[in-house]
Amino acid sequence: MVPSNDAADPAPAAAHRESPPPPPSPNGAAAQLTARASALWRKGHPWFYRDDLVGAPPAEPSLVRVQDHDGRALGLAFASPRGKLALRACGDWDGAVVPDRGAFFAARIGAAVARRAAFAVDAGVRLVHGESDDLPGLVVDRYGPVVVIQVTAGFVEQALDAVVPVLAALPGVEAVVARNDVSVRRLEELPREVRLLHGRRVEQVAITENGVRFTVQPFVGHKTGFYLDQRPARALVQQLARGRTVLDLFSYQGGFALAALRGGATAALAVDQSAPALELAQQDAAANGLAGLEVQRANAFDFLRALRQDGRQFELIVLDPPAFAKSRREVRAALRGYRDLNRQALRLLAPGGHLLTCSCSHHATPPLFEETVRQAAAGLPFKVALEQRLGAGADHPAWLQLPESEYLKVLLLRRMD
Ligand code: SAH
Repeated sequence: MVPSNDAADPAPAAAHRESPPPPPSPNGAAAQLTARASALWRKGHPWFYRDDLVGAPPAEPSLVRVQDHDGRALGLAFASPRGKLALRACGDWDGAVVPDRGAFFAARIGAAVARRAAFAVDAGVRLVHGESDDLPGLVVDRYGPVVVIQVTAGFVEQALDAVVPVLAALPGVEAVVARNDVSVRRLEELPREVRLLHGRRVEQVAITENGVRFTVQPFVGHKTGFYLDQRPARALVQQLARGRTVLDLFSYQGGFALAALRGGATAALAVDQSAPALELAQQDAAANGLAGLEVQRANAFDFLRALRQDGRQFELIVLDPPAFAKSRREVRAALRGYRDLNRQALRLLAPGGHLLTCSCSHHATPPLFEETVRQAAAGLPFKVALEQRLGAGADHPAWLQLPESEYLKVLLLRRMD
């Protein structure tokens, strides 16, 4: 499939169409939901499959008005004939016609940016968080002058010529980059690619979070460059760190380790399998004048065992592994993995020490994750307190009607003896 953002013409090639186009409607393109799906829509559920539709889905990725089984208006959705999800709700709109997509994206992105007015762009901020901002299939992160987007909906991909100018026009923005190298794009038959959509190519940009300057590499870093969602947890670690020894497991570029050192930790050991990430951690520690960072390139599972054999202990441990459960089928194995890792980490805690443990698997729900951590603590020769529950920052709002949107779970545990 040809990336379509270069094309100003929104009309996709009609040659592949197998069924005749739906009859023209005075209200623009429309889709109708079954009675059951209509009830779900009214409860706030945003995702619908082919079976939830009355009649054939629209033939091309498009913005459509959605009606219930009786023909009453429900709102707008992105339709995707190729994706697993036939419709993804994208909020309400005044008036009877399908809005012009330029006006639609300007309004939605404008509202999302306005909701984040309290966030400093120089600290890094997520400006658009998909469904939570009525923009399913679009994530927008801003690092000072650089905006990085991730697109996972066919309609958004086709409308990049409407999306990019809105982002480029935000005050102070010098570049817009697409980090479309995520595998879920396959579901919508979108190509995996990384490219500059606007402005000049910026390889590195600095953000300052709670007094720590981090280097972000928009083109090669993980995700869009930085784990912005862990901002609240890094702030907590900074508060807890004074005078303590810290172990940052699955550290990436040492976000937690550097926050701890800024908070007065005596030493921090960052462990990750990625050499470039650890190199960046060391560079950033030096640039911030933070002494006491040690890095170790290792498989965290093996390294944990080695630390235990050496009798090492730490007063503050951060455990922030990648998502173990990529699908529902993998949940059981993933939970076993979390349980074993957490048990190993708890065993390395010094008396009175804290473990900040995280899971970013959509499929490990908050109660499931908490139960898993409870199992990890069972049978240890000391009591473990659950002191705090955290999640992603307010720029990554979870949507109550979509439990999967509460993907990041963070628990602060303490060894009590
Ligand atoms: N804590 C980080 C984000 C961690 S993301 C922050 O706040 O910025 C997960 C990290 O785990 C990635 O950097 C990845 O390279 C690393 N990783 C994945 N599997 C690993 C393994 N088996 N051993 C060590 N590191 C691993």
